[in-house]
Amino acid sequence: MSQRIRVTLVSFDIDGTLEVGDPPGRLDLDLVRRALTLGYVVGSCSDRTIRNQEEIWAEAGIEVHFTALKHRLDDVRERFPAGRYVHIGDTDVDRHFAERAGFEFCHVEEVPPDGTDGWIF
Ligand SMILES: [Mg+2]
Repeated sequence: MSQRIRVTLVSFDIDGTLEVGDPPGRLDLDLVRRALTLGYVVGSCSDRTIRNQEEIWAEAGIEVHFTALKHRLDDVRERFPAGRYVHIGDTDVDRHFAERAGFEFCHVEEVPPDGTDGWIF
């Protein structure tokens, strides 16, 4: 029998999504830390350069698994086998690239409350 891969991968857009973005988004970095604590594969996928994304995480003292350019979510999917792929962002561009790469897209303004059935937190 093949083994089921149960891990969840979550990708965060930065600008307009995370509190450290420009403009700041509604998600605080504690949510990112919580995702890591839950054992999720976690990273950012943004229009910002890889270097800039890495600086943001370093400054926050958070070690993420990946940083990717917005249109490269498909690479992330290839690098990390997971049971579930989720991208959280604030624009139609996020939705487009997420869905194209086989991710579930969650709009930052529609993040379900913790504990919601089927949600990752
Ligand atoms: Mg954004």
